[in-house]
Amino acid sequence: MTVTVRLKPGRDASVRRFHPWIFSGAIAKVDGAQVKGALVTVLSAEGERIGTGFLSQEGSIAVKVLSFDAEPIDATFWRRRMRAAIQRRRSLGLFDDQGTNAFRLVHAEGDDCPGLIVDRYGSTVVLQSHAEGITAERQSIVEALLEELPVRPDVIYDKSERDLEAGGERYLVGEPRRVEIKENARRYLVDIERGQKTGFFLDQRDNRALLGRFARGKKVLNAFSYSGGFSMYALTAGALHVTSVDSSKRAVELLEENVALNGVGDRHLSVTADFLAYMSGLERGAFDVIVLDPPAFAKHREAISSGLKGYRSINQRALEALPSGGILFTFSCSQLVRFEQFQGTVTDALLRAGRRGTVLHVMHQAACHPVSLTHPEGRYLKGLVVAVS
Ligand code: SAH
Repeated sequence: MTVTVRLKPGRDASVRRFHPWIFSGAIAKVDGAQVKGALVTVLSAEGERIGTGFLSQEGSIAVKVLSFDAEPIDATFWRRRMRAAIQRRRSLGLFDDQGTNAFRLVHAEGDDCPGLIVDRYGSTVVLQSHAEGITAERQSIVEALLEELPVRPDVIYDKSERDLEAGGERYLVGEPRRVEIKENARRYLVDIERGQKTGFFLDQRDNRALLGRFARGKKVLNAFSYSGGFSMYALTAGALHVTSVDSSKRAVELLEENVALNGVGDRHLSVTADFLAYMSGLERGAFDVIVLDPPAFAKHREAISSGLKGYRSINQRALEALPSGGILFTFSCSQLVRFEQFQGTVTDALLRAGRRGTVLHVMHQAACHPVSLTHPEGRYLKGLVVAVS
């Protein structure tokens, strides 16, 4: 029996505006077995069917809506969803881009697929489920991808969180192999099994290209470098010198391999260290350009204020170190930190550092991480290019 979720009177407004999250406070009654991830039909207080989704239990989000139409969630549904997501990337020219073969294929709510991430790394596809409701649909999703992708992938790897599923096969198609990608003609090795996220931060592609425009002849510090995404652009764009800092030994090993792969080792130094420890004692002017791309400091609501303090302190330290005329690329990937809050925090950091600054660019996640207008929460990555005086 399908589970039905009936909303309280007047609490259907956000669903009718195509917002896919239903909070527990909006629900009057659930009929049927409340198994985690179960598919549910959403009814208004008056009994009208207004959506189909799955039970979520992520914080106070009780249901995530997969469809606002009266349609079953079956193989045909997933084919339509995958076709639409692939069509969006086609319209962005991503399948024709000779210099880039890695991008996000499905971006959760931004592609009307809450809980589902699919990334393309050349002929390898990595799928990541963030919800039981999606894990249960994995077979249909994989089949839909195989049907709809313009070229059949050699490998499909499932990188869902382990507790969502006990064991299970990870290589749904193909077997383990070395994964190397191109991004705007830069080469990277991607560790899909042990790397962060699905292996690479595809959301920064356009911002990396922008860094290239500032890097020529400059001394660049790429902090929180991971596998060197930004470093390769700065180096190939003619930076005088690039130092990459990351606290993860594994990330720095991958970074070293990427430096060698791009043949730019003569102007690069990698450092395995905590950012603030590395910065202590650094003289002003040691770098002309600093990139700060830390992990999400505010992962849940209670962590917002400590997260903002974290952003403030790393930005202050970077701004103190930059010379007059220096450039700061600064980011936050915390979904819960709004753009205005982030800009305010960078402003606080600037004033504490005793500096003045001008915003040259506002940055966001790459377009293969689309944001639904009716789900603005999907815009998680925000960044500023600040010219410091
Ligand atoms: N800019 C990268 C992605 C950064 S992800 C890219 O373009 O690919 C954030 C990185 O910060 C991770 O690699 C993590 O290992 C590193 N990190 C986390 N805490 C750190 C700290 N205190 N000091 C230095 N690096 C840190």
